[in-house]
This record gives sequence, structure tokens and C-alpha cells, in this order.
Amino acid sequence: MSGAILILSGPSGAGKSTIIQRAEKAIGDFYFSISTTTRAPRPGERQGVDYYFTDRASFEREIAAGEFLEYARVHDHYYGTSLKPVKEALEEGKLVLFDIDVQGHRLAREKMGDRITSAFITPPSLAELERRLRSRATDDDETIRRRLRNAREEIEALEEYDYLIVNDDLERATEEFIALARTARLKPGRREAAAFRERWLGGGTES
Ligand code: 5GP
Repeated sequence: MSGAILILSGPSGAGKSTIIQRAEKAIGDFYFSISTTTRAPRPGERQGVDYYFTDRASFEREIAAGEFLEYARVHDHYYGTSLKPVKEALEEGKLVLFDIDVQGHRLAREKMGDRITSAFITPPSLAELERRLRSRATDDDETIRRRLRNAREEIEALEEYDYLIVNDDLERATEEFIALARTARLKPGRREAAAFRERWLGGGTES
């Protein structure tokens, strides 16, 4: 059994991490890909849990060493997914969850498209996103504006995703996400399809 990848994108404030937390028990054996970033931790965020927080020089060294499956600059900071733990989790047959932006989704698709199912998660409107970001009160005005600008750009990539989850009701959005996690596991990657076909053909009698 080889694993599968489920990529979630969507604006900061869409509720991705809340949905993942709520779904945790229902989705079985999974590995959440912890990204590396050069942005500062928000209150409550922990090193090695929410992100690997690092500085720009170290991040650029890792880029040069080819250690990222994908990376992007978002809101003036680097964000990236290290390849090694993802490969290990896939080999263990796990579902690997990514919370990455639209650029990262594109790059990951180029490299591992046959293993990937993706969903764009968003609040029902830009106005609602703004309301949520302001009530979260973790970011200053300039940061919120930057996130909103970014969200306007990101929504343009909606059609590149397999699925859309509108998070206007957390309960329902979580249910939809759980359904997707189950579906993602059913996607046969190239290698898995070939191995299955061989086994499948092996048992028959030619007519
Ligand atoms: P935040 O600063 O709110 O945690 O994340 C900002 C944006 O960066 C979000 O859209 C998030 O999906 C994206 N992001 C987080 N980790 C990665 C990553 O490893 N790669 C890419 N490409 N984007 C990421």
C-alpha cells in the first residue's frame, strides 16, 4: 500500500487548521506535513508543531540543497515543504495532508500529480474573510490587508483544484473534509496502479 496526498489551500483565516483538528480522529492514519517558514510565530504557535520556524539564510541553504518538494514566497516570507518526511509517510501508506498556497499546489502537482487530491477551502465571501481576520486579532492592519490582497489573487486559481469547500458552517465543512480524506486514499498513484494491474492480470486465464 502506498499513501496519498491531500492538498488544502485557501486564504489564511479560512479555517483550515481548525477543520483538520476537528477531523483528526475520523480520518485515520495520516501525516500532517509541517512546513518550514521564515515568518515569525503567532502567539500560541509552537516550533515543530505548527511550523519549523527558521531564518532566511537557512531557508535559502535548504533550497540550494534541493530539500524542498515545493516552496513559495507568500506575504514576503518563504514557506516550503520538505521532501524527505513526505516520502517516508507515503511509503508507510499514510495520507499526507498539506496546507500550502496555490503556487505550492501547482509545483507539487507537477512533481507528484498522480498522488494528489486537492481542495480549496474558503469562507463564503471576501467580506466574511475580512471579518474573521479582524476578529482573530492576531495580525496588524497592514498584515490583514496583505492577506486580503493575497486571497483575491488566490481565488483566481480555484479551477485548478479538484474540490471546493465553503466554510460557512464548521460542522458541515469538517464533514466534507472527512469525505475528501477518505476519497483521496482511493486514488491510485502511477506505481500503485501498475502493481495492482499486474496482480489483477496475474490471476486470469487468457481468452
Ligand atoms: P500563514 O502565515 O497564515 O500560516 O500561511 C500563509 C499561507 O502560506 C497560507 O496560504 C498557507 O497555505 C501557505 N503555506 C503554508 N505552508 C506552506 C508551504 O509549505 N508551502 C507553500 N507553498 N505555502 C504554504
